[in-house]
This record gives sequence, C-alpha cells and structure tokens, in this order.
Amino acid sequence: MMNKGLLFVISGPSGTGKGTICDELLKNENNNLFLSISATTREKRKDETEGVTYYYKTIDEFKRMINNGELLEHAVYNGNYYGTLRKNVEQMLDEGKNVLLEIEPQGALNVKCNFPEAILMFVIPPSADELKNRLINRGRESEEQIEKRLNAAKWELEQACKYSHIFVNDNLDECVKEIEKIIKEENKNRNKVNELLKEWN
Ligand code: ADP
Ligand code: 5GP
Repeated sequence: MMNKGLLFVISGPSGTGKGTICDELLKNENNNLFLSISATTREKRKDETEGVTYYYKTIDEFKRMINNGELLEHAVYNGNYYGTLRKNVEQMLDEGKNVLLEIEPQGALNVKCNFPEAILMFVIPPSADELKNRLINRGRESEEQIEKRLNAAKWELEQACKYSHIFVNDNLDECVKEIEKIIKEENKNRNKVNELLKEWN
C-alpha cells in the first residue's frame, strides 16, 4: 500500500517571505509538494483568482463551513477569517502527496493540536527593520495595514519556539535549501518508520 504524504506547515509574520519561499518549494518536483488552497472572507485582490489564491467566502458561508467541521483549522487575522479545507488536504495526503499549508501562527498551532503528525516550520526575518522594509517594498498594503501586521508580528514571533524548525529568511536561496533538506529528511525518516512497522504486521 502507498504511504500517505506528509503535512508541512509554513508560518511566520506577514512580510517575512513565506509566499516567496513556498513558490520556490512548489517549483521543485523533488519535494512532491502541493499547496492547500485556503478559504477566506478577505476581499479578493485584483491580481488574485478564485480557487487559485483562495476560495473567497462570505462570513455566513465561512461560519457554515466551521459548523460543518469542514475546516482543519481556522483563524481570524486582521478582521478576516482564513481556514484550511480538511477534505482537500486529506485527499492529497491519501494520494501520497506532501501537502503545504502557508498559514499564520494561530492556525498553525491549531494544526499541531488537530493533526500532531504535521511538521511545523517557522520563518523569521533577519531583523525587525528588514521585515518592515519588505512589507513597505512589497507595496501591497496601506500604511495602516502594514502597522497592524507589524504589531501582530510580536505575538507571532513569540510562538516560534513551539515549532519543530525555525529558519531565517536572509538569503532566499539558502533558506529554501535548508527547508528542502528538512523535507527530504522528514520523508526519509517517516518512510523508515513505515518500513519498520511493516515488520510488525
Ligand atoms: P509573506 O508571504 O510572508 O507575507 P512575501 O513572500 O510576500 O511574504 O515576501 C514579502 C516581500 O519580501 C516580497 O516583496 C518578497 O519579494 C520579499 N522577499 C522575500 N524573501 C526575501 C529575501 N530573502 N530577501 C529579500 N527580500 C525578500
Ligand atoms: P493575506 O491576506 O496576506 O493573503 O494573508 C494573511 C495571513 O493569513 C497570512 O499570514 C497567511 O499565511 C494567512 N493565511 C492564509 N491562509 C490561511 C489559512 O487557511 N489559515 C490560517 N490560519 N491562516 C491563513
């Protein structure tokens, strides 16, 4: 029987480079990594596509999904709901795919409770100034939004020690390589455990 895939969670403050890192990880076929598309009540931005960046929901639709147990985790971030679709994740894992969640830390810690075998990875910026610069240079949010995201970063950074792995995103290529090393190692170790377990069956 085929081994199930592994669930990797990448988290960290907004602007730290999670999206950029995930794009690189997803490009490398050796990682056998597939992104879970989240649901959100946040307004769709001009450059975003339904079903590709997010599934866009009304607050009522989102609450219905929570009540029906359709979400593996969810959180409110800056006044909007965000959540991971349980069925999509489970289907990909059953197909032997490694699944990637790119989510904020409240949700990541919920995954740790609901799905303890998940591998939690936290990305930190090289400095507070650099985080601010990245948010400003990205030019996506208003000054007020950037301030809110920087304020949220303090609590988020305090959660870093609860993760299995912490990575500094200073040099992008080096950071991606370090994460890929962990993905490879986790796959190797889990495969070994599965092999061993077969000896008991
Ligand atoms: P997040 O998804 O964590 O909010 P992004 O991936 O959108 O962050 O990155 C925020 C900004 O920082 C983007 O403009 C991105 O190009 C830039 N960036 C990402 N990683 C690095 C890096 N290692 N060095 C310099 N800039 C980076
Ligand atoms: P944005 O509005 O910039 O797309 O996302 C804001 C924050 O929500 C980011 O930190 C992003 O990682 C996080 N996020 C995206 N999808 C989910 C999700 O399904 N669950 C949780 N908890 N956070 C998410």
